[in-house]
Amino acid sequence: MLFLLKICNTIDKKIRDFLWGSIEEKKRMHMLNWQTVTQPKELGGLGLFQTRHRNQTLLAKLCWHLASEHEALWARMLTAKYLSTRRLTEGGRNLPCSRIWVACKVGGPAYVKGLKWTVNNGSSINFWKDFWLPCGPLRSIIEGLLHRDEDQLTTATPFALNQETEDSLAWAFSKDGLFSLQSAYLLARGSNPLNLGISSMSWIWKADTHPRIQFFMWMCSHNSLPTSEILGLRGLNLNPICTICHQENESVDHLLRRCNVAQDLWRKLKVPRELLFTFDQLVEKWLELNCSTGAVFDHLGILWKVVFPMGIWQLWLARNKFHFRTSVVDKLIHTKCIKESVEFFAIGAKDWCNKMKKVIRVAWMKLNSNGSALGNPSKAGGGGLIRDHQGNWVRGYARAHGNTSSSIAELVPA
Ligand SMILES: [Zn+2]
Repeated sequence: MLFLLKICNTIDKKIRDFLWGSIEEKKRMHMLNWQTVTQPKELGGLGLFQTRHRNQTLLAKLCWHLASEHEALWARMLTAKYLSTRRLTEGGRNLPCSRIWVACKVGGPAYVKGLKWTVNNGSSINFWKDFWLPCGPLRSIIEGLLHRDEDQLTTATPFALNQETEDSLAWAFSKDGLFSLQSAYLLARGSNPLNLGISSMSWIWKADTHPRIQFFMWMCSHNSLPTSEILGLRGLNLNPICTICHQENESVDHLLRRCNVAQDLWRKLKVPRELLFTFDQLVEKWLELNCSTGAVFDHLGILWKVVFPMGIWQLWLARNKFHFRTSVVDKLIHTKCIKESVEFFAIGAKDWCNKMKKVIRVAWMKLNSNGSALGNPSKAGGGGLIRDHQGNWVRGYARAHGNTSSSIAELVPA
């Protein structure tokens, strides 16, 4: 079904507002443009869809079904009615048609862009203009005029590979030749699906850390963290100088590497020697190298790529605490970073860490508790469990709380 542009824009606005936490009563700045956010993750976006292009993609899929199920009654009816000789003339294209055919016409361009010929007898394929090689139509990658003899090359090959069989169409951007929504979406928004393989941003989403820190690093990589300097550049009347050290503008680079607080953290953490050089590289490269390294953190034997994201995240939390609450520099950034890293490494990190977990000796326990009530107020109960740093069960408990509200029941077990 074809969505009106107005509907697509309204849906997109709702998604944008949700992403940046903007509501009717309290507008918040959108730190990255919608075009970037809706790029695939490999190309630096979040992989969200622009509704208009997503709609075109699904309509391209409808065209694919129409072609691949051409013997079906519905397909025969549509092609007989709308691909008749009369309809294919200049005037015929503007004749009234059903909603489903309007939808096919909107999905058509993305569908056609994704088709690739499989050469058999070569008679149906235009040598220059058709997509029959992995690099796309040959004419699109050759600049300037062609010699007349060259221009007259029409068939794909002078020697038929298979004289008996007609050339056939398949989807160019999938291994099995079948329609793929991801590549069709890229075609609908004017991108080349072949560029996905040469991306440089995938490391963010593979980093061994919490998704919210991955999102934070994504913002840093796009230089879109709401620091004083960046907010000032976007028109807010703010002093761009770092309010903690008063030495430089508060940029991402300053906040995470050059500020006194950051330097103090990295000094205390003892950055692995082989990564010291990265502290002079561009911020995005610095983040990538420190999140992809196999270096071990001296202090506890856990991996540096687990400690590092926690470090930059704690710097950001400490900065916000200073700005919005205490105006006092948090003295516990280093301790919090190690504590969070150890907890994540022991419980949240991926399976490959299991071998390394065995060498860590950390004596801490974790308590999870909860409670609920049948009504407000009504019969209530709760319980909890205690696990060690390897996630092993230590002790559990459960008890009735009598008649109380659900919020009290939530609080009591802890
Ligand atoms: Zn500073």
